[in-house]
Amino acid sequence: MTTLDSRFAEALRAIEDRGQLRRLQPMQLAPQGRLLRDGGEFLDFSSNDYLGLSRHPLLIERASAWAAEMGAGAGASRLVTGTSSAHLAVEAKIAAFKGTEAALLFASGWQANAAVIPALVKAAPGAAVFTDRLIHASLHQGCAAAGVRQIRFRHNDLDDLETLLASKGKDAPARIIVTESVFSMDGDRADMQRLAAIARAHDAFLFVDEAHATGVLGPGGAGLSATVPGSVDLVMGTFSKALGGFGAYVAGSRLLCDYLINACGGFIFSTAPPPAVLGAIDAALDLVPSMDAERRHLADLAERLRSGLREIDLDTGPSTTQIVPAIVGEARTALELSRKLADRGIVAAAIRPPTVPNGTSRLRLALRASQETGDIERLLAAIRETR
Ligand code: PMP
Repeated sequence: MTTLDSRFAEALRAIEDRGQLRRLQPMQLAPQGRLLRDGGEFLDFSSNDYLGLSRHPLLIERASAWAAEMGAGAGASRLVTGTSSAHLAVEAKIAAFKGTEAALLFASGWQANAAVIPALVKAAPGAAVFTDRLIHASLHQGCAAAGVRQIRFRHNDLDDLETLLASKGKDAPARIIVTESVFSMDGDRADMQRLAAIARAHDAFLFVDEAHATGVLGPGGAGLSATVPGSVDLVMGTFSKALGGFGAYVAGSRLLCDYLINACGGFIFSTAPPPAVLGAIDAALDLVPSMDAERRHLADLAERLRSGLREIDLDTGPSTTQIVPAIVGEARTALELSRKLADRGIVAAAIRPPTVPNGTSRLRLALRASQETGDIERLLAAIRETR
């Protein structure tokens, strides 16, 4: 018994009353876009393993080989005892992939966002931070940790961003724009050309989270920032989604990375990623640039899914990527649909407020290159049946 137990129980009751109580459910990813759960095999439309790399033999082999050679753990943070040549080599490979001067590894995407924003603001205390309304929770966490009061622009509305830039934060020591290239709940993209031009025109620092674009979009899967070379000041992305492993990166100038090595608490005080994780990242970076056929297949699957959903009058919002929402409106409807699909052997997570705005509850359908058109048809047939 702890002194907080009654508070924990009360908080859980309140969450349950709101119909939002979540539990961890045992499962295991399986090949061909499947997962194993409740003793059965499900068609999985909710994981972010977009290129199916989490089970690729090369990642598994290199993760094992690097662990066998270098051990299970990195031993310390990289500033304490020195950094391994493997970390430096993988960072050089990330920078080459992203077309930037340098890159820095972080433990996870969440940790990178939560840690990097405070470091940026520390360089220019009082900086004005302009954020898209739909940025990820980890970016909100970073802003909160930096003590920043966000200046929010309407989702992907760059006219709104320009209006705000014209009137706010003009006397601030710096202005920072924080957005994502692909948004995780809507599967839509930011207009990178225009964002880059706006940042340049307003002398603002541009921070773009490429968690869902890395590996999937842009030349050789390098993300949408690679379509505007040299224009994004800080690109952040993860290895936990299309790259099939774990961990995250920040890519940008050598100066930026040198600054973060010296000023970012989440880098300084956190143990370096372990060799197995590093090996998987290294292998994924070898594979991803030549996976154009998989990227095309993924785009085709998404297009078929969107048109199939529209045929049965389901709103797919502004999606143009491998993330396709099927917007049903009420939270209860989304949950019910998700449950009925589970009964038919399909995992399709229901996303509800507060993750998405009221009245836009949805199934968030995330596709994988290892799935087939027949899988999409099975999903569409199951949705049709339940409606
Ligand atoms: N940014 C975005 C946009 C994300 O969707 C996520 C993961 N849901 C993260 C950051 C966090 O990345 P990670 O899972 O590697 O912590």
